[in-house]
Amino acid sequence: MITFRGGIHPPEFKHLAENKAIEVMPPPRQVVIPCSQHIGAPAKPVVAVGDEVKVGTLLAEATGMISAPVHSSVAGKVKAIEPWPHPVLPTPVKSIIIEAAGKDELDCAIKPRSEAEIARLSAGKIREIVRDAGIVGLGGAAFPTSVKITPPRGVKIDTLIINGAECEPFLTADDRLMREKPEGIIQGAKILAKVLGLDTAYIAIEHNKPEAIKVMTEAAAKVWPQAEILTIKTKYPQGAEKQLISAILKRDVPRGGLPFMVGVVVQNTGTAYAACEAVTQRKPLYERVVTVTGPAINVPKNLLVRIGTLSTDVAEHCGGLKPNATKFISGGPMMGIAQSTLDVPVIKGTSGMLFLNDKKSLFKIAEEVNCLRCGKCVGVCPMGLVPCEIARMGEYEKLEQAERWGILDCIECGSCAFVCPSGRRLVQWIKYGKTLVFAERSRKKEKK
Ligand code: SF4
Ligand code: SF4
Repeated sequence: MITFRGGIHPPEFKHLAENKAIEVMPPPRQVVIPCSQHIGAPAKPVVAVGDEVKVGTLLAEATGMISAPVHSSVAGKVKAIEPWPHPVLPTPVKSIIIEAAGKDELDCAIKPRSEAEIARLSAGKIREIVRDAGIVGLGGAAFPTSVKITPPRGVKIDTLIINGAECEPFLTADDRLMREKPEGIIQGAKILAKVLGLDTAYIAIEHNKPEAIKVMTEAAAKVWPQAEILTIKTKYPQGAEKQLISAILKRDVPRGGLPFMVGVVVQNTGTAYAACEAVTQRKPLYERVVTVTGPAINVPKNLLVRIGTLSTDVAEHCGGLKPNATKFISGGPMMGIAQSTLDVPVIKGTSGMLFLNDKKSLFKIAEEVNCLRCGKCVGVCPMGLVPCEIARMGEYEKLEQAERWGILDCIECGSCAFVCPSGRRLVQWIKYGKTLVFAERSRKKEKK
């Protein structure tokens, strides 16, 4: 079966939520919408405290080449614009706080575009719609989609891959979306392919999602028979885009490079669906599907949540936390980020919220001992790196050496730490090293 080199098979806990249909969470009383929810420059607020807004009102506009606007997810009044804790960034981020008025009035024109209108849209116009709707990669990376579907001049894209791997244990949001909205995803894939000048796409789904494979195959036959549904092996991190490209096309993205360099664009299934909604229904991205799961939440669910909803409200909607809850991770257990507060909002890149207790924690923090030189971490690294060495270089701040050994190519998948018998904090030291390398680069740039 199609797969990539390296990788691991962590225990799966998808059964907790995979059979829970997507439930719409009612809009909360207050939302906190960060101006930075994407890779690139933060958006700049265009509203002021006291302004009335509706669902879909533009709150902050994109600034610069790589950026994305943000929109209101509730109707109400802007209560404050101030720094607020963020689920991904280490320090509080400028956020627009809106008190909901109780009515769910929409600002966006709801009148859907007809098929004929959609067919007449040029590639440039679709890019503009996708950009104005604030769509970013919903798999977690949150790279602005309009930028991703605009390859550099002279670059020919020959393949579009829609990523339905969802390889993180516990997460089921993409699985549910594929099972419940297959036609919208296929339609979105067709729209994105049109922008790239392609007349087909691969839709890759791990073989642990048989129902999704079945309904997506049926939907493709109806909506866009040129789309090819590919069943790929269940292996972590199969959903990382470089691994997906390697598995499907046997092409290696060069070190430090991006998929367009090998003629490929990869988009998550949720992103394809959001693009479909933006183009066909003129809907900006103000809500997304989130898996709320783990042994320490009372009722695991897949929820359609308004962006800016606080995690504490989401947890409450899922019956609250069990008394033995010890850890809250935004995202999956492998690549998600442990949080110090439940006051962080759901953002565009929030694919899951995981509540763990000590018993079921995948990563029990074992006491760290010296490296045994067993080589297990090398065997599983999907990027072909030597994790034990680059982690050591990060720890001891040997930055030039770490760069030569490819520390910046680490995708932070955690596979190495997962198999390490010595409890080495490999990803922690690699992340530390990467931060120092980037800081050194900006210091040198400023000096010039
Ligand atoms: S070194 Fe990076 S890419 Fe390789 S296994 Fe470890 S976390 Fe993943
Ligand atoms: S898996 Fe752990 S103990 Fe083995 S070589 Fe890598 S860092 Fe060392």
